[in-house]
Amino acid sequence: MPTLPSLFVSHGAPNLILGSTAARGFLSGLAEELPKQPQAIVMISAHWETASPAVSAPLVNDTIHDFGGFERELYALRYPAPGSPATAERIAALLQSAALPVTIDGQRGLDHGAWVPLMLAWPDADIPVVQLSVQTQAGVDHHLAIGEALEPLRNEGVLIIGSGSFTHDLRSYLPHRHNTVAPEPDWVSGFADWMDAALASNDRDALRSYRKLAPDAVRNHPTEEHLLPLFVALGAGGTESSARALHRSTTHGVLRMDAYAFGN
Ligand code: ZN
Repeated sequence: MPTLPSLFVSHGAPNLILGSTAARGFLSGLAEELPKQPQAIVMISAHWETASPAVSAPLVNDTIHDFGGFERELYALRYPAPGSPATAERIAALLQSAALPVTIDGQRGLDHGAWVPLMLAWPDADIPVVQLSVQTQAGVDHHLAIGEALEPLRNEGVLIIGSGSFTHDLRSYLPHRHNTVAPEPDWVSGFADWMDAALASNDRDALRSYRKLAPDAVRNHPTEEHLLPLFVALGAGGTESSARALHRSTTHGVLRMDAYAFGN
C-alpha cells in the first residue's frame, strides 16, 4: 500500500470558497494529488490555538464560523464530516509516546482553516476528520516534534494536513480585502522565495531559524500561528524528505497560497 504524504496548504481568507482564484482551483483538485484516498484526516489549523496540544473527537463535526464581516452566504455553509474518536486516541498515544502532553476535546468542531480546504477538496464530507491545535508560543521546534511523532499515521491511511498561510500579514491584507488580484510586493515574494528554496533543499537548520534568516519573516508573520502548521507537515514527512511544491499563487497581494507535500 502506498504511503500518504503529509501536506501543507494555505487556506486564505474565509471567502476563498466563494471566488474563482487559482488557489481555489488547486484545492478543488487536491484529492487527485494523493496516491490513495485517506481513511481519515487530521487537520492542524492555525485557528485552533491552545497552551498545550489538544485533539478533537466529536462523533460529528460542527462547522465553526470563526470570522466576522464576510459574505452572509458563508455563514450558511456546513461541513458535517464525521469525527474519528479512534484516530484522536491514536494521535494522543503517539504524542504521549513523544513526551508531548495532549488532551482530547469531545466537543470541538471544525474552524474555517479546516473546513474551507476540506469542503473544496472533499465536498461530500464523508471522510472522518479530527483537528489538532497549535501552540503559537511554543515555536518551530515544538511543531516539528509534533509532526515527527505523527509520522506513523501516514502508513495507517491517515492524511496529515497543516493548514495555515505561507504569508500572513493581516494588517497589509485589509486594504486589499476586496481585491484578490492586488499586486504582490517584494517583501512578500522575497520571503516566499527564501522559504521555497530552503524547503526544496531540505535545509532544516535554516528553516528552524527562518524567523532570523528569512527576509521580512516577522513582517510576513507578525505572529507565527499561520506558518507553524507547515512545520508539523514537514516533521511528519520524515527527516530525509524534501518538499514538493504543489501550488504557488497570491491572493489579495499579501496572502501567499502556496502548498507543499512532504514524504513521497
Ligand atoms: Zn487563517
